[in-house]
Amino acid sequence: MDKQKVEEAVKNLLAALGEDVESGGLKDTPRRVAEAYAELLAGEGQTADVHLARTFECEGAEPVIEKDIWFSSTCEHHLMPFFGKIAIAYIPDGKVVGISKLARTVEVFAKRLQIQERLTNQIAAEIMRCLKPKGVMVVCEAEHTCMTCRGIKKAGTKTVTYAVAGEFPKEKREEVLSLLK
Ligand code: ZN
Repeated sequence: MDKQKVEEAVKNLLAALGEDVESGGLKDTPRRVAEAYAELLAGEGQTADVHLARTFECEGAEPVIEKDIWFSSTCEHHLMPFFGKIAIAYIPDGKVVGISKLARTVEVFAKRLQIQERLTNQIAAEIMRCLKPKGVMVVCEAEHTCMTCRGIKKAGTKTVTYAVAGEFPKEKREEVLSLLK
């Protein structure tokens, strides 16, 4: 990200919106917005290898579930936040990963311009690629501010997406979904 260019662009945007960019309150806004974007898009180009590399041996064929992983991301259609909770369930193939590492994996893919469907799919695919479990299932429930603050303005509307990769038998999926309720 070219911070200088982002600052200029924000300045131009404010001017185009008819704002006085030199006024007290707006003076530092371009810099602040550029810093905010640097943080919000910090996952761009990253992978989760570093987070999912350290594993622990573990017997057992039942799903490991981590739920209520809070995330916020930025919708690529409106550049507005969407946020919510993600649950990840995977069926280990002899190894498991430290629980905080799944949340770190979520961060990698949330901190970039996204759509919810792709976010959900990318997390599932990355866990398959790095951890190589038998199967993985990701459920994402999110509120989109581009929908709750503009457009139809339906506060509290949630969008649910899910992705399954590898082998995740139907009865295990149902078990996971009932545990997520
Ligand atoms: Zn949007």
